[in-house]
Amino acid sequence: MIKHNLEHIRQTIRSACEGAGTSPQEVRLIAVSKTKPLPKLLSAYDWGVRDFGENRVQELLEKKKNLPEDIRWHMIGHLQTNKVKQLVGHTALIHSIDSLRLADAIEAEAGKRNIQVEGLLEINVAKEASKFGFLPEDALAAAQRCQLYSHLKIRGLMTVAPYTLDPENNREVFAKLKQLAVDINFKTNDNTNMEYLSMGMTGDYGVAVQEGGGFTTFVRIGTGIFGVR
Ligand SMILES: *Cc1c(COP(=O)(O)O)cnc(C)c1O
Repeated sequence: MIKHNLEHIRQTIRSACEGAGTSPQEVRLIAVSKTKPLPKLLSAYDWGVRDFGENRVQELLEKKKNLPEDIRWHMIGHLQTNKVKQLVGHTALIHSIDSLRLADAIEAEAGKRNIQVEGLLEINVAKEASKFGFLPEDALAAAQRCQLYSHLKIRGLMTVAPYTLDPENNREVFAKLKQLAVDINFKTNDNTNMEYLSMGMTGDYGVAVQEGGGFTTFVRIGTGIFGVR
């Protein structure tokens, strides 16, 4: 089942790229494995997945301990500042930096250990009351503050688009996130480099891939790989 699902997703990504004139090389698939047991993750691993996304620190660390070392772990869920200490050093990328307080905490912890940490600023593009993230109008100021850090490197933007049955409804959200990244790139120094967009989930990743051209787009897919949670 997981093999079949992955084949379908990889094919959909290739088709979306062809339609938009972008390269599949620019797209990275993250298997969102929250709540799923280890054997399912191992199965995805066996079919070539090396990027996994989790939304809880404890669960991410537990799974990391028990799975192959070449897996890149992505923190995609809201992160409390009091959990930063445990998480720092264990991720390829923290997607969900949604406040300057959190960014400061990550910088401080990374500084203490003298390591580099890479992260994305989460943007609440559609301004949903239920969602975390910087409002689009606050994103530039946040990025300009982060460019002063010496251990946390901001490499792009992330968004969780509104839930919808028609992915076309989110096209504008993805286009806005990219435009924001382009603007921020012009107005920040080299320490803040907008290379990554993290956008698109099971319901809308094809549209996200089409809108992400010119950047590396991380699509975060859970249900489409592992089935309903
Ligand atoms: C759960 C989750 C996903 C995956 O959602 P699916 O609809 O199951 O693909 C992606 N991003 C974030 C931030 C999530 O919490």
